[in-house]
Amino acid sequence: MSVSVTTGSPDLSCPESRGRELIRRLEQTQTLSRDEWSELIRGRTPALAEYLFRRAEKVRIAHYGRDIYIRGLIEFTSYCRNDCYYCGIRRSNSRTARYRLTKEEILSCCELGWTLGFRTFVLQGGEDGWFTDERLADIISSIRARWPECAITLSVGERSRASYQMLFDAGADRYLLRHETYDSEHYGKLHPPSLSAACRQQCLWDLKDIGYQVGAGFMVGSPFQTPENLADDMLFLKKLNPHMAGIGPFLPHHDTPFAQEPPGTLELTLYMLGLIRLMLPNVLLPATTALGTAAPDGRERGILAGANVVMPNLSPPSVREKYLLYDNKLHSGSEAAESLNELKARMEAIGYQVTVSRGDSLNR
Ligand code: SAH
Repeated sequence: MSVSVTTGSPDLSCPESRGRELIRRLEQTQTLSRDEWSELIRGRTPALAEYLFRRAEKVRIAHYGRDIYIRGLIEFTSYCRNDCYYCGIRRSNSRTARYRLTKEEILSCCELGWTLGFRTFVLQGGEDGWFTDERLADIISSIRARWPECAITLSVGERSRASYQMLFDAGADRYLLRHETYDSEHYGKLHPPSLSAACRQQCLWDLKDIGYQVGAGFMVGSPFQTPENLADDMLFLKKLNPHMAGIGPFLPHHDTPFAQEPPGTLELTLYMLGLIRLMLPNVLLPATTALGTAAPDGRERGILAGANVVMPNLSPPSVREKYLLYDNKLHSGSEAAESLNELKARMEAIGYQVTVSRGDSLNR
């Protein structure tokens, strides 16, 4: 068959058509090279983003339909031994009020959550030494005994492999640990020298090896981030092949070294969500609180870009203001577990439905 080279062939010098070509290839092969990722991120345009979101939505619907999975987020301690430069609950922030929930308080959050229709509880907190393996395992096994059908997700940072194993044996199913940024040099600009990208990543491999469903992810638009850094994040996610990918815009907190840094944009975060959906069609992809904070319709736009999970706040209302990772962090309205009806209505308004289920990853 002879094909005319003068008619109908795309103009590869035009970034828009080159971008479309890369997106089509990504959809077909679920992978790109580092240079191609950088090119696609650097060369994005509003029209290209719209094209990407249409492809990503199609892929998400093919794999997960129009179901939105919900997780009840229990922020159970704001004490933290770490000093991450971006985070509002970093150790050096002496102006934040610290709190720690008791086991009974955590269980009553689960009780309320179960009644509301949550089947996944996410226990998130700073790296708080009070929660030894024994104390955490006791809380996990109590939740497991009382609600055998629920999924228990932990998000409590870096621990030893033995600790992860003990918590898994106690009944935890999933673990969220964002790698934050893959590149070790960039990682070093966001964290004190006591923390390293290599350790963080090793934790993820350990968690996966033990049998957890794992969630990795990164902040979008964090200080000093380049398109090449994001390209490396994509390659790392591809290699790790996590069950969940949590990404959200970096948002400054007034009492941190990054108080004056510009926030990450909604636009780039949505674009990265769309790219992740095409690269990992089976992944669970939350429209995060940070995305909802960045714009009033951020959560909806995240769903329309390929996301399929939301994690309303199930912490006791009295402590919600104290878990301030960044300024203006949302914790009411659709972000509040008790306002689930509002969230349901907002999802229905864009053609999606909140489901009552554990919402396990297809990637198992
Ligand atoms: N201590 C746990 C939980 C950290 S909080 C851990 O180490 O995993 C959960 C996530 O919030 C972090 O992984 C980080 O990506 C995000 N986060 C923290 N500060 C932020 C900020 N200023 N802007 C946006 N996201 C932030």
